[in-house]
Amino acid sequence: MATSWEQERDELVAAFRKDAWTLEKWTRQPALVARDGRTIAFYHGQQYDPEKYDLVPDGWGHDHCELCFKTITDFTRDDGRAPVVDEGYTNGDSWICCACYHKYLEGRLES
Ligand SMILES: [Zn+2]
Repeated sequence: MATSWEQERDELVAAFRKDAWTLEKWTRQPALVARDGRTIAFYHGQQYDPEKYDLVPDGWGHDHCELCFKTITDFTRDDGRAPVVDEGYTNGDSWICCACYHKYLEGRLES
């Protein structure tokens, strides 16, 4: 049975409420970039095959808000295209934009 995005989002929010979130400026992070150009993986110190992957120090160029998919990166853009912000809340793994944090994580859960 398909679940709606609203249900999935509510489940994410419920899980996220258990984490500690801090407001941070987004910064570029190292990434493993496949030499065939097909995949890119966030690098957190894991083992990798240097014949297949290059470790690029600033290779991770952006994240997306987990709740609205807004781009979070190291610049802002306000030219009418998709909104981009340069800071957000992170639990060390996922990112949430400030608007969603205030809307979904600070507010009381509807019961
Ligand atoms: Zn958001």
